[in-house]
Amino acid sequence: MSKKRIVVVVEDEDAIRRGIVDALRISGYEPIEAADGVAGLGEARRAGVDLVLLDLLLPKMDGFEVLGELRVTHASLPVIILTARGSEDDRVRGLRAGADDYVVKPFSARELLARVDAVLRRSPERPTPVLRISGGDTTVDCARREVCHGERERVALSEMEADILQRLASHAGRVVSREELLACVWGLRDGGVETRAIDMHITRLRQKLTVGSSDPDMEWIVTVRGKGYMMGPNLTLVTDAPSTERGMV
Ligand code: CA
Repeated sequence: MSKKRIVVVVEDEDAIRRGIVDALRISGYEPIEAADGVAGLGEARRAGVDLVLLDLLLPKMDGFEVLGELRVTHASLPVIILTARGSEDDRVRGLRAGADDYVVKPFSARELLARVDAVLRRSPERPTPVLRISGGDTTVDCARREVCHGERERVALSEMEADILQRLASHAGRVVSREELLACVWGLRDGGVETRAIDMHITRLRQKLTVGSSDPDMEWIVTVRGKGYMMGPNLTLVTDAPSTERGMV
């Protein structure tokens, strides 16, 4: 059966947070709680999160900041903001900052769940984890972090190399910026030294993917000047989505 949808609840008022968490759990969701903005951002960035319920007035980092930071790395993750009654400015500001919807406090569990359902229904398809990437007779087993050049050779990937590759593969068809790679793979903000570190990891990844391959000219990772990196166009990606094989043209 389909797996439970994961909803991160970022709300500092214990009673409200607990109420939301209980309502979600009863309705078959898997809630994750956070009581301040910093913790909330961390939880929201975990793999597999389907939706974030985000209060605006929060300790450590307010909801607008959380949303802004989250949008750098997770442009399409559904976010519903929880706003106080009458604060139209907050609602407008939240929607402009990329929130998908809002719920005005005090709200009923029924109303909240209806919004959650609606936002999840219309949200674009989430990237699905990629299990295998193939180019020529070279295959990457993402879970085992291993590159196989036919039957000839196996090369291990470091955790970071595997994470970078997974990020690029699950967003195949679009450019992933160095900042996005940094934020997701390292959990850091941008900075000159770190972005160069990304380039070094990419160089090593390319070597592992092509040296020993029967097709050493295969383009696995494309550099998009001034923008970042993207997955090569002639690879085959296998995901754990229901229809598994997806050829990249
Ligand atoms: Ca609050």
